Amino acid sequence: MKSRHGFLLAMLLTTPALGGGIGRAAEQTAWKAGLAKASITPDKPMWMSGYGPRLAERKLHDIWIKVLAVEASGGHRAVVVTSDVCGFSKQSYEAICVELKKRCGLERSQFMLTCSHTHTGPALRECLHGCWPWNEEPARTLVEEYSLWLEDTIVEKVRESLAQMAPATLWAAEGMADFAVNRRNNPEGEVPAIRQRGELLKGPVDHSIPILAVRTPEGQLRAAVFGYACHTTTLALQEWSGDYAGFAMIALEQQHPQMQAMFYQGCGADQNPLPRRSVELCRKYGRMLAEGVADALAKPMRPVASRLATAFDFVDLAYERNLAEAELRSLSQGTSVPALIAQRYLGQLAAGPLPQTYPYPVQVWKLGQDQLWISMGGEVAVDYSLKFKAQYGPRTWVAGFSHDLMCYIPTLRIQKEAFGQETGALWAYALPAKDWSRDVEDRVTQGVARLVEQVK
Ligand SMILES: [Zn+2]
Repeated sequence: MKSRHGFLLAMLLTTPALGGGIGRAAEQTAWKAGLAKASITPDKPMWMSGYGPRLAERKLHDIWIKVLAVEASGGHRAVVVTSDVCGFSKQSYEAICVELKKRCGLERSQFMLTCSHTHTGPALRECLHGCWPWNEEPARTLVEEYSLWLEDTIVEKVRESLAQMAPATLWAAEGMADFAVNRRNNPEGEVPAIRQRGELLKGPVDHSIPILAVRTPEGQLRAAVFGYACHTTTLALQEWSGDYAGFAMIALEQQHPQMQAMFYQGCGADQNPLPRRSVELCRKYGRMLAEGVADALAKPMRPVASRLATAFDFVDLAYERNLAEAELRSLSQGTSVPALIAQRYLGQLAAGPLPQTYPYPVQVWKLGQDQLWISMGGEVAVDYSLKFKAQYGPRTWVAGFSHDLMCYIPTLRIQKEAFGQETGALWAYALPAKDWSRDVEDRVTQGVARLVEQVK
Protein backbone atom coordinates (compact mmCIF):
# COMPACT_ATOMS: atom_id res chain seq x y z
CA MET A 1 0.00 0.00 0.00
CA LYS A 2 1.23 3.50 -0.80
CA SER A 3 2.20 5.58 2.23
CA ARG A 4 0.63 8.99 2.74
CA HIS A 5 4.03 10.56 2.13
CA GLY A 6 4.51 8.51 -1.04
CA PHE A 7 1.12 9.61 -2.33
CA LEU A 8 1.92 13.29 -1.68
CA LEU A 9 5.25 12.98 -3.45
CA ALA A 10 3.61 11.29 -6.44
CA MET A 11 1.04 14.13 -6.58
CA LEU A 12 3.74 16.78 -6.52
CA LEU A 13 5.80 15.03 -9.16
CA THR A 14 2.91 14.87 -11.60
CA THR A 15 1.57 18.41 -11.06
CA PRO A 16 3.33 20.89 -13.33
CA ALA A 17 2.07 23.96 -11.46
CA LEU A 18 3.97 22.80 -8.37
CA GLY A 19 7.43 23.27 -9.77
CA GLY A 20 9.25 24.47 -6.66
CA GLY A 21 9.56 23.43 -3.01
CA ILE A 22 9.63 19.98 -1.56
CA GLY A 23 7.96 18.35 -4.58
CA ARG A 24 10.82 19.08 -6.93
CA ALA A 25 12.63 15.88 -7.81
CA ALA A 26 16.32 16.65 -8.20
CA GLU A 27 16.61 14.44 -11.25
CA GLN A 28 13.72 16.08 -13.02
CA THR A 29 14.88 19.68 -12.55
CA ALA A 30 18.45 18.91 -13.55
CA TRP A 31 17.71 19.69 -17.20
CA LYS A 32 18.99 22.77 -18.90
CA ALA A 33 17.22 24.26 -21.91
CA GLY A 34 17.93 27.03 -24.39
CA LEU A 35 15.71 28.56 -27.05
CA ALA A 36 16.12 30.63 -30.20
CA LYS A 37 14.06 31.54 -33.24
CA ALA A 38 14.22 33.55 -36.44
CA SER A 39 11.67 34.69 -38.97
CA ILE A 40 12.50 33.20 -42.37
CA THR A 41 9.87 35.08 -44.38
CA PRO A 42 11.59 36.04 -47.66
CA ASP A 43 12.00 39.80 -47.99
CA LYS A 44 11.67 39.76 -51.76
CA PRO A 45 9.53 37.77 -54.24
CA MET A 46 10.57 34.09 -53.98
CA TRP A 47 9.58 30.70 -55.35
CA MET A 48 7.40 28.47 -53.23
CA SER A 49 7.51 24.70 -52.76
CA GLY A 50 4.90 21.95 -52.57
CA TYR A 51 2.85 22.37 -55.74
CA GLY A 52 3.63 23.53 -59.28
CA PRO A 53 5.69 26.70 -59.74
CA ARG A 54 4.32 29.63 -57.73
CA LEU A 55 5.93 32.92 -56.78
CA ALA A 56 4.99 34.59 -53.47
CA GLU A 57 5.25 38.31 -52.97
CA ARG A 58 3.45 38.71 -49.65
CA LYS A 59 2.65 36.89 -46.46
CA LEU A 60 -0.42 35.62 -44.70
CA HIS A 61 1.75 35.47 -41.59
CA ASP A 62 5.49 35.18 -40.89
CA ILE A 63 7.19 31.81 -41.22
CA TRP A 64 9.86 30.66 -38.75
CA ILE A 65 12.63 28.37 -37.72
CA LYS A 66 12.66 27.64 -33.98
CA VAL A 67 15.23 25.85 -31.86
CA LEU A 68 15.09 23.99 -28.55
CA ALA A 69 18.35 22.74 -27.04
CA VAL A 70 18.29 20.52 -23.94
CA GLU A 71 21.05 19.18 -21.72
CA ALA A 72 20.59 16.30 -19.29
CA SER A 73 22.32 16.05 -15.91
CA GLY A 74 25.18 14.03 -17.36
CA GLY A 75 25.96 16.88 -19.79
CA HIS A 76 24.64 15.16 -22.94
CA ARG A 77 22.87 17.59 -25.27
CA ALA A 78 20.24 17.38 -27.99
CA VAL A 79 18.85 20.04 -30.30
CA VAL A 80 15.56 20.01 -32.19
CA VAL A 81 14.83 22.51 -34.97
CA THR A 82 11.31 23.06 -36.31
CA SER A 83 10.77 24.96 -39.54
CA ASP A 84 7.99 26.31 -41.76
CA VAL A 85 9.36 24.75 -44.95
CA CYS A 86 8.25 21.88 -47.19
CA GLY A 87 11.46 19.94 -46.57
CA PHE A 88 15.27 20.01 -46.79
CA SER A 89 17.40 18.34 -49.44
CA LYS A 90 20.19 15.96 -48.46
CA GLN A 91 22.66 18.65 -49.57
CA SER A 92 21.16 21.19 -47.14
CA TYR A 93 20.93 18.67 -44.29
CA GLU A 94 24.54 17.55 -44.76
CA ALA A 95 25.81 21.15 -44.91
CA ILE A 96 24.03 22.00 -41.64
CA CYS A 97 25.38 18.85 -39.91
CA VAL A 98 28.96 19.66 -40.95
CA GLU A 99 28.71 23.21 -39.59
CA LEU A 100 27.05 22.11 -36.34
CA LYS A 101 29.86 19.65 -35.69
CA LYS A 102 32.48 22.29 -36.47
CA ARG A 103 30.93 25.24 -34.67
CA CYS A 104 28.95 23.60 -31.84
CA GLY A 105 30.53 20.14 -31.40
CA LEU A 106 27.19 18.46 -32.08
CA GLU A 107 27.10 14.94 -33.50
CA ARG A 108 24.45 14.05 -36.05
CA SER A 109 22.64 11.91 -33.46
CA GLN A 110 22.18 14.99 -31.27
CA PHE A 111 20.52 17.10 -33.97
CA MET A 112 16.93 16.62 -35.12
CA LEU A 113 16.04 18.69 -38.18
CA THR A 114 12.27 18.75 -38.69
CA CYS A 115 9.83 20.67 -40.86
CA SER A 116 6.11 21.35 -40.95
CA HIS A 117 5.94 20.43 -44.67
CA THR A 118 3.93 23.60 -45.31
CA HIS A 119 3.04 23.97 -49.00
CA THR A 120 3.13 27.76 -48.64
CA GLY A 121 6.80 27.91 -47.72
CA PRO A 122 9.95 28.69 -49.73
CA ALA A 123 11.55 26.49 -52.40
CA LEU A 124 14.92 25.16 -51.23
CA ARG A 125 17.97 24.03 -53.18
CA GLU A 126 18.03 20.49 -54.61
CA CYS A 127 14.61 19.69 -53.10
CA LEU A 128 11.34 19.12 -55.00
CA HIS A 129 12.87 20.34 -58.27
CA GLY A 130 9.55 20.15 -60.10
CA CYS A 131 7.92 22.73 -57.82
CA TRP A 132 9.86 25.73 -59.14
CA PRO A 133 11.82 26.64 -62.30
CA TRP A 134 14.86 24.83 -61.01
CA ASN A 135 16.82 25.12 -64.24
CA GLU A 136 16.13 28.80 -64.98
CA GLU A 137 17.78 32.01 -63.93
CA PRO A 138 17.20 34.08 -61.87
CA ALA A 139 15.14 31.42 -60.01
CA ARG A 140 18.11 29.12 -59.54
CA THR A 141 20.36 31.76 -57.98
CA LEU A 142 17.52 33.19 -55.90
CA VAL A 143 16.67 29.81 -54.35
CA GLU A 144 20.35 28.89 -53.92
CA GLU A 145 21.10 32.13 -52.06
CA TYR A 146 18.02 31.87 -49.87
CA SER A 147 18.81 28.22 -49.03
CA LEU A 148 22.40 28.99 -48.04
CA TRP A 149 21.17 31.89 -45.88
CA LEU A 150 18.59 29.60 -44.24
CA GLU A 151 21.19 26.89 -43.52
CA ASP A 152 23.50 29.47 -41.96
CA THR A 153 20.63 30.94 -39.92
CA ILE A 154 19.78 27.49 -38.54
CA VAL A 155 23.39 26.95 -37.43
CA GLU A 156 23.55 30.43 -35.88
CA LYS A 157 20.29 29.92 -34.00
CA VAL A 158 21.44 26.53 -32.69
CA ARG A 159 24.56 28.27 -31.38
CA GLU A 160 22.40 30.94 -29.77
CA SER A 161 20.16 28.35 -28.08
CA LEU A 162 23.20 26.50 -26.70
CA ALA A 163 24.61 29.77 -25.33
CA GLN A 164 21.39 30.43 -23.45
CA MET A 165 21.07 27.20 -21.51
CA ALA A 166 19.24 27.70 -18.21
CA PRO A 167 17.81 25.30 -15.59
CA ALA A 168 14.55 23.76 -16.74
CA THR A 169 12.05 20.96 -16.23
CA LEU A 170 10.71 18.76 -19.01
CA TRP A 171 7.20 17.31 -19.29
CA ALA A 172 5.50 14.94 -21.69
CA ALA A 173 1.88 14.39 -22.73
CA GLU A 174 -0.32 13.56 -25.69
CA GLY A 175 -3.22 15.69 -26.90
CA MET A 176 -5.78 15.00 -29.64
CA ALA A 177 -7.13 16.67 -32.78
CA ASP A 178 -9.26 14.85 -35.33
CA PHE A 179 -9.12 16.84 -38.58
CA ALA A 180 -6.59 14.63 -40.42
CA VAL A 181 -8.20 12.35 -43.02
CA ASN A 182 -6.53 9.42 -44.79
CA ARG A 183 -6.27 10.80 -48.32
CA ARG A 184 -5.58 7.46 -49.97
CA ASN A 185 -8.79 5.89 -48.67
CA ASN A 186 -11.33 8.75 -48.88
CA PRO A 187 -12.17 10.73 -52.05
CA GLU A 188 -11.58 14.38 -51.14
CA GLY A 189 -14.92 15.65 -52.49
CA GLU A 190 -16.92 13.07 -50.53
CA VAL A 191 -15.47 13.77 -47.08
CA PRO A 192 -17.98 16.48 -45.96
CA ALA A 193 -20.96 14.30 -47.03
CA ILE A 194 -19.53 11.20 -45.28
CA ARG A 195 -19.10 13.25 -42.11
CA GLN A 196 -22.60 14.73 -42.43
CA ARG A 197 -24.09 11.25 -42.68
CA GLY A 198 -22.30 10.41 -39.44
CA GLU A 199 -20.34 7.64 -41.16
CA LEU A 200 -16.76 6.78 -40.35
CA LEU A 201 -14.01 7.84 -42.72
CA LYS A 202 -11.82 5.02 -44.00
CA GLY A 203 -8.17 4.20 -43.58
CA PRO A 204 -5.60 4.49 -40.80
CA VAL A 205 -5.08 7.87 -39.08
CA ASP A 206 -3.09 9.04 -36.07
CA HIS A 207 -4.93 11.84 -34.30
CA SER A 208 -2.63 12.08 -31.28
CA ILE A 209 -0.47 15.15 -30.62
CA PRO A 210 2.83 14.28 -28.92
CA ILE A 211 3.86 17.22 -26.70
CA LEU A 212 7.15 18.02 -24.99
CA ALA A 213 6.84 21.01 -22.62
CA VAL A 214 9.72 22.95 -21.12
CA ARG A 215 9.20 24.94 -17.92
CA THR A 216 11.43 27.02 -15.68
CA PRO A 217 12.13 25.46 -12.25
CA GLU A 218 9.44 27.85 -10.98
CA GLY A 219 6.86 26.33 -13.32
CA GLN A 220 6.70 29.00 -16.05
CA LEU A 221 6.06 27.54 -19.53
CA ARG A 222 8.98 28.25 -21.88
CA ALA A 223 8.40 25.96 -24.85
CA ALA A 224 6.02 23.38 -26.26
CA VAL A 225 7.24 21.14 -29.07
CA PHE A 226 4.38 19.23 -30.67
CA GLY A 227 3.69 17.11 -33.74
CA TYR A 228 0.71 16.06 -35.81
CA ALA A 229 0.44 13.60 -38.67
CA CYS A 230 -1.27 15.54 -41.45
CA HIS A 231 -0.12 17.30 -44.61
CA THR A 232 0.04 21.09 -44.18
CA THR A 233 -1.90 21.53 -47.42
CA THR A 234 -5.00 23.46 -46.41
CA LEU A 235 -3.75 26.38 -48.48
CA ALA A 236 -2.30 26.68 -51.97
CA LEU A 237 -2.07 30.49 -51.99
CA GLN A 238 0.79 32.61 -53.27
CA GLU A 239 1.28 33.99 -49.77
CA TRP A 240 3.78 32.78 -47.16
CA SER A 241 2.28 30.83 -44.26
CA GLY A 242 2.85 27.88 -42.00
CA ASP A 243 -0.62 26.58 -42.98
CA TYR A 244 -2.69 25.18 -40.07
CA ALA A 245 0.51 24.58 -38.07
CA GLY A 246 1.43 28.27 -38.41
CA PHE A 247 -2.00 29.30 -37.09
CA ALA A 248 -1.70 26.78 -34.22
CA MET A 249 1.68 28.19 -33.15
CA ILE A 250 0.37 31.77 -33.33
CA ALA A 251 -2.66 30.87 -31.19
CA LEU A 252 -0.54 29.09 -28.56
CA GLU A 253 2.00 31.93 -28.35
CA GLN A 254 -0.84 34.44 -27.91
CA GLN A 255 -2.24 32.32 -25.12
CA HIS A 256 1.20 31.82 -23.47
CA PRO A 257 3.32 34.90 -24.37
CA GLN A 258 6.44 33.50 -22.62
CA MET A 259 6.26 30.21 -24.52
CA GLN A 260 7.86 29.26 -27.83
CA ALA A 261 5.46 27.00 -29.77
CA MET A 262 7.23 24.57 -32.14
CA PHE A 263 5.50 22.28 -34.63
CA TYR A 264 6.90 19.28 -36.50
CA GLN A 265 5.22 17.02 -39.05
CA GLY A 266 4.39 13.48 -37.92
CA CYS A 267 3.86 10.50 -40.22
CA GLY A 268 1.41 12.45 -42.36
CA ALA A 269 2.38 11.35 -45.88
CA ASP A 270 -1.07 9.91 -46.57
CA GLN A 271 -3.07 12.37 -44.45
CA ASN A 272 -4.78 15.60 -45.51
CA PRO A 273 -6.74 18.30 -43.68
CA LEU A 274 -10.13 17.88 -45.39
CA PRO A 275 -12.03 19.81 -46.62
CA ARG A 276 -9.47 22.46 -47.44
CA ARG A 277 -8.44 25.48 -49.57
CA SER A 278 -9.72 28.40 -47.52
CA VAL A 279 -8.00 30.58 -44.93
CA GLU A 280 -11.06 30.12 -42.73
CA LEU A 281 -10.61 26.30 -42.73
CA CYS A 282 -6.89 26.73 -42.16
CA ARG A 283 -7.51 28.90 -39.08
CA LYS A 284 -10.07 26.35 -37.87
CA TYR A 285 -7.61 23.42 -38.09
CA GLY A 286 -4.96 25.59 -36.43
CA ARG A 287 -7.38 26.32 -33.61
CA MET A 288 -8.22 22.61 -33.24
CA LEU A 289 -4.55 21.70 -33.03
CA ALA A 290 -3.79 24.55 -30.59
CA GLU A 291 -6.71 23.48 -28.38
CA GLY A 292 -5.41 19.90 -28.36
CA VAL A 293 -2.02 21.18 -27.16
CA ALA A 294 -3.46 23.73 -24.69
CA ASP A 295 -5.74 21.12 -23.10
CA ALA A 296 -2.77 18.82 -22.48
CA LEU A 297 -0.63 21.68 -21.13
CA ALA A 298 -3.38 22.61 -18.66
CA LYS A 299 -3.56 19.09 -17.23
CA PRO A 300 -0.91 17.27 -15.17
CA MET A 301 1.84 16.09 -17.51
CA ARG A 302 4.41 13.30 -17.06
CA PRO A 303 7.68 14.62 -15.57
CA VAL A 304 10.69 13.65 -17.69
CA ALA A 305 13.74 12.61 -15.66
CA SER A 306 17.00 14.31 -16.64
CA ARG A 307 18.41 11.48 -18.74
CA LEU A 308 19.09 11.57 -22.43
CA ALA A 309 20.33 9.05 -24.98
CA THR A 310 20.63 9.80 -28.70
CA ALA A 311 21.29 7.47 -31.64
CA PHE A 312 21.38 7.89 -35.40
CA ASP A 313 21.97 5.71 -38.43
CA PHE A 314 21.63 5.68 -42.18
CA VAL A 315 19.62 2.65 -43.30
CA ASP A 316 20.25 1.56 -46.88
CA LEU A 317 16.87 1.51 -48.65
CA ALA A 318 17.03 -0.43 -51.91
CA TYR A 319 15.55 0.76 -55.18
CA GLU A 320 13.38 -1.77 -56.99
CA ARG A 321 15.74 -1.26 -59.90
CA ASN A 322 17.61 1.69 -61.37
CA LEU A 323 16.31 3.40 -64.48
CA ALA A 324 18.06 1.80 -67.43
CA GLU A 325 20.15 3.90 -69.79
CA ALA A 326 17.51 3.64 -72.54
CA GLU A 327 14.80 4.92 -70.17
CA LEU A 328 17.00 7.80 -69.07
CA ARG A 329 17.69 8.65 -72.73
CA SER A 330 14.00 8.80 -73.58
CA LEU A 331 13.31 10.90 -70.45
CA SER A 332 16.20 13.24 -71.22
CA GLN A 333 14.68 14.88 -74.31
CA GLY A 334 13.86 18.57 -73.91
CA THR A 335 14.35 21.07 -71.11
CA SER A 336 11.68 20.04 -68.61
CA VAL A 337 12.77 19.33 -65.04
CA PRO A 338 12.57 15.50 -65.47
CA ALA A 339 14.56 15.82 -68.71
CA LEU A 340 17.30 17.79 -66.95
CA ILE A 341 17.40 15.28 -64.11
CA ALA A 342 17.66 12.43 -66.63
CA GLN A 343 20.54 14.29 -68.33
CA ARG A 344 22.24 14.62 -64.94
CA TYR A 345 21.96 10.85 -64.32
CA LEU A 346 23.18 10.06 -67.84
CA GLY A 347 26.28 12.11 -67.01
CA GLN A 348 26.75 10.13 -63.78
CA LEU A 349 26.16 6.86 -65.61
CA ALA A 350 29.05 7.66 -67.92
CA ALA A 351 31.31 7.72 -64.84
CA GLY A 352 30.01 4.46 -63.34
CA PRO A 353 26.87 2.64 -62.18
CA LEU A 354 24.16 4.65 -60.42
CA PRO A 355 23.61 4.04 -56.68
CA GLN A 356 21.23 1.15 -55.97
CA THR A 357 20.33 2.24 -52.45
CA TYR A 358 19.54 5.46 -50.62
CA PRO A 359 21.10 6.33 -47.22
CA TYR A 360 17.87 6.82 -45.27
CA PRO A 361 18.23 8.85 -42.03
CA VAL A 362 16.73 7.37 -38.85
CA GLN A 363 17.18 8.78 -35.36
CA VAL A 364 15.99 7.70 -31.91
CA TRP A 365 16.14 9.75 -28.73
CA LYS A 366 15.24 8.52 -25.27
CA LEU A 367 14.23 11.22 -22.81
CA GLY A 368 13.98 10.28 -19.13
CA GLN A 369 13.19 6.68 -18.27
CA ASP A 370 11.03 5.69 -21.20
CA GLN A 371 10.02 8.50 -23.55
CA LEU A 372 11.06 7.47 -27.06
CA TRP A 373 11.24 10.05 -29.84
CA ILE A 374 11.83 8.53 -33.26
CA SER A 375 12.52 10.78 -36.26
CA MET A 376 12.71 9.58 -39.85
CA GLY A 377 13.42 11.12 -43.24
CA GLY A 378 11.02 11.50 -46.14
CA GLU A 379 7.25 11.56 -46.44
CA VAL A 380 6.47 8.77 -43.97
CA ALA A 381 3.10 6.95 -44.13
CA VAL A 382 0.96 6.94 -40.99
CA ASP A 383 1.25 3.15 -40.62
CA TYR A 384 4.77 3.65 -39.28
CA SER A 385 3.77 5.75 -36.26
CA LEU A 386 0.91 3.35 -35.47
CA LYS A 387 3.27 0.39 -35.82
CA PHE A 388 6.05 1.85 -33.65
CA LYS A 389 3.60 2.88 -30.93
CA ALA A 390 2.19 -0.67 -30.91
CA GLN A 391 5.72 -2.07 -30.84
CA TYR A 392 7.39 0.24 -28.30
CA GLY A 393 4.43 1.40 -26.22
CA PRO A 394 2.31 4.55 -25.97
CA ARG A 395 5.28 6.63 -24.83
CA THR A 396 6.60 6.67 -28.36
CA TRP A 397 6.55 9.76 -30.56
CA VAL A 398 7.35 9.61 -34.27
CA ALA A 399 8.37 12.55 -36.46
CA GLY A 400 8.36 12.04 -40.21
CA PHE A 401 9.72 14.47 -42.83
CA SER A 402 12.87 14.89 -40.68
CA HIS A 403 16.50 15.41 -41.71
CA ASP A 404 16.16 15.16 -45.50
CA LEU A 405 13.13 14.84 -47.76
CA MET A 406 14.12 12.26 -50.40
CA CYS A 407 10.58 11.05 -51.38
CA TYR A 408 7.66 9.01 -49.95
CA ILE A 409 8.22 6.07 -47.57
CA PRO A 410 5.37 3.59 -48.08
CA THR A 411 4.67 0.40 -46.16
CA LEU A 412 4.24 -3.00 -47.80
CA ARG A 413 0.46 -2.60 -47.38
CA ILE A 414 0.51 0.59 -49.43
CA GLN A 415 2.83 -0.97 -52.03
CA LYS A 416 0.41 -3.90 -52.40
CA GLU A 417 -2.68 -1.66 -52.54
CA ALA A 418 -1.08 0.38 -55.30
CA PHE A 419 -1.27 -2.65 -57.63
CA GLY A 420 2.07 -2.07 -59.28
CA GLN A 421 1.78 1.73 -59.41
CA GLU A 422 4.76 3.51 -57.96
CA THR A 423 4.22 4.55 -54.35
CA GLY A 424 7.33 6.48 -53.43
CA ALA A 425 7.31 9.13 -56.18
CA LEU A 426 11.06 8.53 -56.42
CA TRP A 427 11.48 9.85 -59.94
CA ALA A 428 9.41 12.99 -59.13
CA TYR A 429 11.91 13.54 -56.31
CA ALA A 430 14.84 13.12 -58.71
CA LEU A 431 15.98 9.72 -57.42
CA PRO A 432 17.34 7.34 -60.12
CA ALA A 433 14.53 4.76 -59.85
CA LYS A 434 10.78 4.41 -60.17
CA ASP A 435 10.07 2.69 -56.83
CA TRP A 436 11.48 1.23 -53.63
CA SER A 437 12.00 -2.49 -53.36
CA ARG A 438 9.30 -4.44 -51.54
CA ASP A 439 11.43 -4.71 -48.38
CA VAL A 440 11.42 -0.96 -47.66
CA GLU A 441 9.20 -1.38 -44.58
CA ASP A 442 11.35 -4.21 -43.22
CA ARG A 443 14.54 -2.23 -43.66
CA VAL A 444 13.09 0.87 -41.95
CA THR A 445 11.61 -1.22 -39.12
CA GLN A 446 14.87 -3.07 -38.51
CA GLY A 447 16.86 0.19 -38.59
CA VAL A 448 14.59 1.75 -35.97
CA ALA A 449 14.74 -1.43 -33.84
CA ARG A 450 18.56 -1.32 -33.79
CA LEU A 451 18.53 2.29 -32.59
CA VAL A 452 15.86 1.66 -29.96
CA GLU A 453 18.10 -1.11 -28.64
CA GLN A 454 21.04 1.33 -28.56
CA VAL A 455 19.24 3.99 -26.49
CA LYS A 456 18.03 1.37 -24.03
ZN1 LIG B 1 3.94 15.84 -49.15
